[in-house]
Amino acid sequence: MNKKTVRDIDLKGKRVLMRVDFNVPLKNGVIQDDIRMRAALPTIQYVLDQKPKYLVLMSHLGDPKKDVQKAKEKAEKDNKPFDEAKFIEGKHKMKPIVEHLAELLGKPVQLAPAAIGAETKAMVDGLKQGDILMLENTRFHKEETSKDPAEREKMAKQLAEYADVYVNDAFGTAHRAHASTETVAHFLPAVAGFLMEKELAYLGKATDNPVKPYVAVIGGAKISGKIDVIQNLMTKVDALLIGGGMMFTFYKAQGMEIGKSLLEADKVELAKQILDTAKAKNVKLLLPVDCLVADKFDNAAATKIVKVDAIPADWAGVDIGPETIKLFAGEITKAKTVVWNGPMGVFEMPNFAKGTTAVAQALADATKNGATTIVGGGDSASAIAQAGLDKAVSHVSTGGGASLEYLEGKILPGVAALNDK
Ligand code: AMP
Repeated sequence: MNKKTVRDIDLKGKRVLMRVDFNVPLKNGVIQDDIRMRAALPTIQYVLDQKPKYLVLMSHLGDPKKDVQKAKEKAEKDNKPFDEAKFIEGKHKMKPIVEHLAELLGKPVQLAPAAIGAETKAMVDGLKQGDILMLENTRFHKEETSKDPAEREKMAKQLAEYADVYVNDAFGTAHRAHASTETVAHFLPAVAGFLMEKELAYLGKATDNPVKPYVAVIGGAKISGKIDVIQNLMTKVDALLIGGGMMFTFYKAQGMEIGKSLLEADKVELAKQILDTAKAKNVKLLLPVDCLVADKFDNAAATKIVKVDAIPADWAGVDIGPETIKLFAGEITKAKTVVWNGPMGVFEMPNFAKGTTAVAQALADATKNGATTIVGGGDSASAIAQAGLDKAVSHVSTGGGASLEYLEGKILPGVAALNDK
């Protein structure tokens, strides 16, 4: 990586501002999974060991505006009352995060009333040697995500006033050019944390000179979210394996009947183009040969295994089948570099999780054979943890969107803004 890290800068006695990605799943104020918090601990601990004047941490937590709108609409539809303040309290306020961080660090962590503003500035100015302060959710301020650079700059300048050095360890948000992830880096010496460094090192292994054979496994619900990564990886990998809900749009593109399976009708043409390009360029693009179908979208549904050209009209494909598992596992275990993004089926329902678990197992086997195996964040990270195999692969990314954009060949703005070595 050609960016400076916390190792390349003197932090002793400095006022440090650090962006982390503590956007963890919260249910009524209870943290459901703290992987992202634990992942940032090595950097936090390192910074504290350097004896800075103080450490100010900041993160977003959910997307208040969007989440409120969605929850309100749902409550209206279900004819239920909606308490906005209570909803925000349980989903977007940093209090439970701060309490948990204090436990993890074994040290007190203070909480500011907001990310910016006079009250918070006064609180920062009052910090003593070695204090740790967490700012309130950065996304409570519309400037954070504003499309207008001047707006973002207004917020970023206030954040920059807190510190002498900016550290970015928020890989999961590095694909967003927000005030706290990108703009602020222009107003302070700006370096990467260890999590950022590690994520980029692993993803870099897959994108720059991957050891061959290089296999990519792409799944998930929709082609629309994965089109760029499919197109970018297609020319680089030795085999591209496609599963998940998106496979059915590819079958439709080949004139097959897919019953009640997921279909993106407006992407059939695109799927056709991808298949044509793969053929023309001699790319080994493998689609499932069989699948598990269910008579309803329910874990308790009746199921059967069918060939992909024999999906019954009233049934929906919910997972890849055993022949496909064999085919995919064979490709994956032969590989020396593997990237995986997106489940092979509706893995949240245990009866439809076999294909996804088998892919996770194949990645674990490939790792044992010496391969570098990388799991993109989001659903594939949950799936591999669910299978108990998260420690059996080389790297599980903490950033779904960010790792996808990296694999698409895009530049991550949060990384680009950091100081070069
Ligand atoms: P994505 O966010 O695009 O990676 O998609 C993840 C979602 O795809 C998960 O919630 C899965 O349940 C869903 N999914 C995977 N396979 C299927 C399928 N065959 N039919 C419907 N949804 C699926």
